[in-house]
Amino acid sequence: MKVGIIGTGYVGLPTGVGLAELGNEVTCIDREASKINALKEGKLTIYEDGLEELFQKNRLSGNLRFTTSMKEGVENADIVLIAVGTPPHPITKEADMKYIHAAATELAEFLTGYTVVATKSTVPVGTGDAVEGLIRKKNPQADFDVVSLPEFLREGFAVHDFFSPDRIIVGSNSQRAADVLRKLYQPFADKTEIMFVKRRSSETIKYASNAFLAMKIHYINEMADFCEKTGADIYEVAKGIGLDSRIGNKFLNPGPGYGGSCFPKDTNAMAYMGRQNNVNLSLIEATIAGNDNRKKQMAQRVLSEIKDIKNPKIAALGLAFKNGTDDCRQSPAIEIISALLEEHADITAFDPQAMKNARLLLGDKIKYATDEFEALKDADVMVILTEWKQFRELDLSKAKKLMRTPHIIDLRNLINPEAAKKEGFTYRGIGR
Ligand code: NAD
Repeated sequence: MKVGIIGTGYVGLPTGVGLAELGNEVTCIDREASKINALKEGKLTIYEDGLEELFQKNRLSGNLRFTTSMKEGVENADIVLIAVGTPPHPITKEADMKYIHAAATELAEFLTGYTVVATKSTVPVGTGDAVEGLIRKKNPQADFDVVSLPEFLREGFAVHDFFSPDRIIVGSNSQRAADVLRKLYQPFADKTEIMFVKRRSSETIKYASNAFLAMKIHYINEMADFCEKTGADIYEVAKGIGLDSRIGNKFLNPGPGYGGSCFPKDTNAMAYMGRQNNVNLSLIEATIAGNDNRKKQMAQRVLSEIKDIKNPKIAALGLAFKNGTDDCRQSPAIEIISALLEEHADITAFDPQAMKNARLLLGDKIKYATDEFEALKDADVMVILTEWKQFRELDLSKAKKLMRTPHIIDLRNLINPEAAKKEGFTYRGIGR
């Protein structure tokens, strides 16, 4: 099938690569010429595990093209996917729809023949109706349907999740459009549940999923706080509750709070929709407040551990919001570092993939090291902020020799506390 994808970011690009790999003719459209030029030259613009090989293969075979021209990408397409950002409004925190509305308006005039326009972006309930109205207004003759096709990929696992999704949700009020998507997703039909639902249900499923996952993270973080006070071990507790199949064992890792480009904005957008509809979404409201506070608490934890050291130097290991990605949007690492900077902390940081993006956010307020050991040189405390494998496998004896004070604050529980203590470190993890 011919697929046009508007927005070549963390969702649009892996989706485009995946659909091309399945044999579709994909054209990725982005308004940022620098992105499109890089992609045309064979340079990936995001880091995602496993993306490079499939990107190069499909680019060279001609299945995957890149353009800044809406006309080129939309004309003759069977399906147009909208995968532009829906960032939080700076004041109300509702999803800002300006990119969605612009994309819908811009694509309208280039629709030819019957086309399915699908929103992959995470959008408030009722967006399908708005997109339909905008296209209809600009191009009254167009033959099209608008469906909701929410994306559930996890950054860092985008390629895996594209080919092995837990489920595919298609929100369509039109049988004709549903049939087109059934064809697109035919390669998944044997192994994945494809659920066809009302468009508004589909839009709700995405927010309800992310809000639930955010609540699960916040819940285990609160349990970790409880364990720290009572002498219980959060790992034993998490395993014990996770063995209950009604609870499940996923998303029960305590840490510095959730972040990234999705959970913070989507919980806020959901809470806003609750308020707009006079529905009390108190669990989500409490999760948002608790998670915001957690980052401040974690910064306080670091400060209190080093309060007796004169001119303490902090080595921050990790900047991305999680491992496997270079994405720093709403990264707990960045927020904790920012809170520490307010207290004039002296910080040297390292991340295997996210240095460039972190620099855009933190500028020269911190120092950047070329590897974890350079960051640790003469440091008084190692603060682990992102769960990269190389930090889990850190050579503790080498680290100890480099540091001025052997102190670890492990906000991701990557290091074995016993091994750290044996090496002569004082160690503080989360919930144990
Ligand atoms: P992103 O910011 O990485 O990418 C969006 C891209 O769209 C940008 O490159 C931008 O230049 C482009 N764009 C914006 N308006 C355009 C227009 N009119 N024409 C052409 N290009 C345009 O965003 P993302 O992380 O890929 O997220 C996209 C959507 O998917 C959001 O709604 C997000 O909530 C949702 N989502 C994201 C993830 C994730 O893990 N990042 C997962 C699931 C869902």
